[in-house]
Amino acid sequence: MSSGILWFKNDLRLDDNPALVAAAGQVDRLICVYCIDAHFEQSSDYGGAARVGPHRSGFIAQALIDLDQQLADRQQTLLTVRGEPEEVLPRIAAFIEASAVWAEIERAPDEAAQLGRVSARLPAGCALVTTEDNTLYRLADLPYDDLADVPATFTRFRKTIESTIDNRVPVAAPETLPGAAELSTLVSELALESVDVGPWLPANPRFSGGERAGQARLAHYLFDTDAIADYKQTRNGLLGDDYSSKFSPWLASGCLSARRIAEQVRLYEARQTANQSTYWLVFELRWREFFHWTLARVDAELFSRGGIIGRDDRPTATDGPTIAAWQAGRTGMPFVDANMKELAATGYMSNRGRQNVASFFARDLAQDWRWGAAWFESQLVDYDVASNWCNWATVAGVGTDKRDNGFNVLSQAKRYDAKAEYVLYWLPELEAVPAKWRHTPWLADADTLAAIGYPRLAHIPRDWGNHLPD
Ligand SMILES: Cc1cc2nc3c(=O)[nH]c(=O)nc-3n(C[C@H](O)[C@H](O)[C@H](O)COP(=O)(O)OP(=O)(O)OC[C@H]3O[C@@H](n4cnc5c(N)ncnc54)[C@H](O)[C@@H]3O)c2cc1C
Repeated sequence: MSSGILWFKNDLRLDDNPALVAAAGQVDRLICVYCIDAHFEQSSDYGGAARVGPHRSGFIAQALIDLDQQLADRQQTLLTVRGEPEEVLPRIAAFIEASAVWAEIERAPDEAAQLGRVSARLPAGCALVTTEDNTLYRLADLPYDDLADVPATFTRFRKTIESTIDNRVPVAAPETLPGAAELSTLVSELALESVDVGPWLPANPRFSGGERAGQARLAHYLFDTDAIADYKQTRNGLLGDDYSSKFSPWLASGCLSARRIAEQVRLYEARQTANQSTYWLVFELRWREFFHWTLARVDAELFSRGGIIGRDDRPTATDGPTIAAWQAGRTGMPFVDANMKELAATGYMSNRGRQNVASFFARDLAQDWRWGAAWFESQLVDYDVASNWCNWATVAGVGTDKRDNGFNVLSQAKRYDAKAEYVLYWLPELEAVPAKWRHTPWLADADTLAAIGYPRLAHIPRDWGNHLPD
């Protein structure tokens, strides 16, 4: 009897999961494993926040439970164990005499190093087989000879991609799977610590983890509501569920496949309507793709203060009270504070919000951008290593080019939240401030601010002058 292991990571789904399809076709007995490794308990090097905060651990817990239920429908089980994959997987492999461990490839430095450690420690006769699960394209699809040739600008990347390659066709979930081993024997013989993720489940999450919830969101945004047909007009919204797709939490944990989304958009275009909005959703997925391949190209350089471009003139400050006020939504700039409150409460923030709070942090507060990026890593339910760190680097002016990608946050607030509805939603105390000053409450009298307990902005950026109310 041939045996193998399927190591689930950021691909918590059955649909369009090439590792699962490959494993299912090749062995008679399959062990499906997810490892709760040390990274779940680590704190960040930049300020000490948990690297996996409660929004993400809660979402992952839901996703693991959903995956286990779906596997159960196919007479399979997910074994969730605490431990480093390089410790756990080789022992299981030796015990069941596995011929292979199948897993998605990951290209970020820590994740790639982990794959290397697993591969090195597998017993003789057992290979680590990686598949490309979480991107629209595989490395071999790209029209470049080498990763080093991935263009440094999104526009060049997108144009070469759009003109040369077709989206990959997603693969359906296997109807049946090879049987599992006697897991209780395996767990006790190998003294594995199996984990009940129940205690991680969030009380009132904004997003429900799991493949089935992700599929439901995909159907909702496309065929159920046609919200996608207006995406280009609504995507800069701040309040509500449907101004943007909200696919990101499911994409980040791999509950949804980017290829499946692209395929469904194409189907929607064929059946309903094809317009600039339907194009734009896939355009945004190509940003995700660009950052994935950019991280693969630049590797650890991305995480240095000088970033991809290697600048040495970026702020070095890491002022504790300044950073704490930004994290808590207590800077005195309502547009920033409202977004930071939303992040803390839900684990999500709109793209418009992310750009502005990042710009405020790196440019106006002049702090080391990596501390802001690490706070996002801890808080975001949709944290994705490439998307987060590349976007932060771009806003901080250390991405792939030297352009000033910073924002005039006051002008943005007035443009995208013209009636101050968003800031009032998250900072209801601003009701007490006259309407014309809700984006600039430091202009109100000191007594009003003191009465509502809202902080006075410490420093007004010079380029806000033209945007102040009369
Ligand atoms: C400072 C900063 C940090 C960010 N960190 C993350 C992160 O950790 N994880 C993450 O998924 N996105 C991140 N983004 C990108 C973007 O803000 C989110 O993907 C988007 O807001 C998620 O909401 P949505 O799914 O409704 O997006 P939609 O607007 O509906 O877009 C559809 C999909 O396209 C992709 N996408 C859209 N914009 C971007 C972008 N700028 N970069 C990469 N992919 C994009 C996402 O996968 C998204 O789900 C960050 C952006 C900034 C400015």
